[in-house]
Order: sequence, then C-alpha cells, then structure tokens
Amino acid sequence: MATAPLAGHEEQAHQAEPRSHWTRLPKEIRDMVVGMAGLLTQLSVGWIGDVNALPWPVQRALWAEAIECEWAGALDLLPLDSPGADVLACVRSRGMHARIARRAAASAGTAAPFRDGLRLAAARNGWADLVGAVSGADAVAIAAEAGAAWLVALAWPRDGAAASGAGPACGGTRCPVAALHVEAACQHGFLAVVEAIGARCACARAWTLDALVAAAANGHLDVVVWLVRNRRIAPSLFVAALAASRGHKHVADWLTSASLPRADSSAGGDDSGIDTDGETLGGTEILTDELAAADFDLGLGDTDSDFE
Ligand SMILES: [Zn+2]
Repeated sequence: MATAPLAGHEEQAHQAEPRSHWTRLPKEIRDMVVGMAGLLTQLSVGWIGDVNALPWPVQRALWAEAIECEWAGALDLLPLDSPGADVLACVRSRGMHARIARRAAASAGTAAPFRDGLRLAAARNGWADLVGAVSGADAVAIAAEAGAAWLVALAWPRDGAAASGAGPACGGTRCPVAALHVEAACQHGFLAVVEAIGARCACARAWTLDALVAAAANGHLDVVVWLVRNRRIAPSLFVAALAASRGHKHVADWLTSASLPRADSSAGGDDSGIDTDGETLGGTEILTDELAAADFDLGLGDTDSDFE
C-alpha cells in the first residue's frame, strides 16, 4: 500500500530525518559540533565512510572510544582488524567483552589478535573464567602485561616448591619467569605483580638491571625501591639520570640519596641477580663530567648527593 504524501518532495526528504532541536540547527553549526565530537559521532553521522581505509592510529582510536564509553552501537561498524592488545585490555565490562568476542568470531582472519587482547582484559579484571587455562610462562607473561598478580600463582605447578611455602625455589630450566616478564611488570609499575613473582623467583637471569631501568624510566618509585631493597640491583648513575631526563625527579632523588647501599658493600655471599653494570654510585666521579654535559637538569642542586 502506497504512502500518500501529505506535502511536496521537500517535506518527504525531511521525513527521513525526524525534526528535532538538532536537525533544526543550521548545517554549518551541526558540522562544527560533529567536528568537535568524538570519532564515534562522526562515524554515526556518516562523516567517516570506510573505517578500514582509515590510518591505523585512527582505527585504534575508534575502537578505544567505543570501549571506553561502552558504545551501544553495532561493533560491526568498527574496523575489521584488532586494535591491539593494549586497547582491548581497557575493556571494563563483561558485556563489552562478550560483544567483542562475538565480533571477533565473525572475522576469522583476525580472531587470534582479538583473542589475545580479550584474555589480557579478562586477566586485568580478574575474570578467571574468561582467562581460561594458562600456566607456566604464559601465566607470568599475561600477569606482567595485565597487572594481574593473582595469575602469578598459576605459573607454578601445584606440587612445586613455591606452593609448599618454601619461598623462592627457582633456578634452572623449570622456572617460568623470564627477564622479559619482570621487565614488563616493572615498566608498567605493577608492584603487586613484581612482589608476587619475587615471592617465588629469585633467578639471577630474571632480575636484571633492565628491570630497574624500566621502572625508573617510567617513574615507578615503589617498584624501584622494591628492586633495590629486595633484589639488590645496584642503581647506576645512568639509571638516575634516565629517570631525571624523563621528568621523574623523585625517582632520581631517591636513587641518588645517601641511604643507598654501595655496590661494594652489598655483597654478603650470593650476589645473584645483581647487575651493577660497573657504574655504581660508588664511582660517580667517573660520570660526573658526562652528566654535566648532558642535556637535562638532574635537579640535584640542593640535595646532599654524591655529585659535588
Ligand atoms: Zn625463577
């Protein structure tokens, strides 16, 4: 049955777009508002055509915006490729997690990257059922990336020495911890993960100066303190300078404070895991000139440091 037009063509055109405060605004104003709005708004009003043709950072930003605001729109409209584990890890609701999982299942080619990112999100939120069965190095790796300390326990077999409460009982090839894992946790500033791994692993190869560098460079003082005190990783002047150059004066201050143990007095037998890099604070004079020439302000003017 045909619809009888009540008015001319012009009126019909308006029927497609219900009259509202929004549509009554002049087009120039609407364009201005949409231009200032987020990507999702621009997508929904048709400003963005082929999402898969957008530059990669914009595709990622679209996904991030949808996840952040729990977008109710169809995820099918979003780019086909996975935006990356770091973006997906920001999922905060089981509903969004399930919707993205369904969306990923529909695009077979990119299902795997979606799956990895969603597992990270589940780990970060403590959704054990959605993390699935993980163990060994996988569990440590996911814990370190997601800040999920609860996952660390799954890395060791139930009958292992760690489970018996024997403390750090690692070493050898059975230890699931790699330096890369520790470094990742330190870089993100996940102290709880560092502590959980540290409660079970004291392998020299896992706790290196790189971990301290990662924590200091990103301003995570609590992690820096833990590493120096519990793994006796001696801070070099380089680490303090790096922290200062990244704007983390509080970390640089602590690293250069007089309370730090000197590398030459920290021994006491087993110095496993201590990577001094040969440039400890005990020998600062060697690097003083180098530091003075560097292009950053250490902010040590009024501190009682070893630099003078
Ligand atoms: Zn270990």
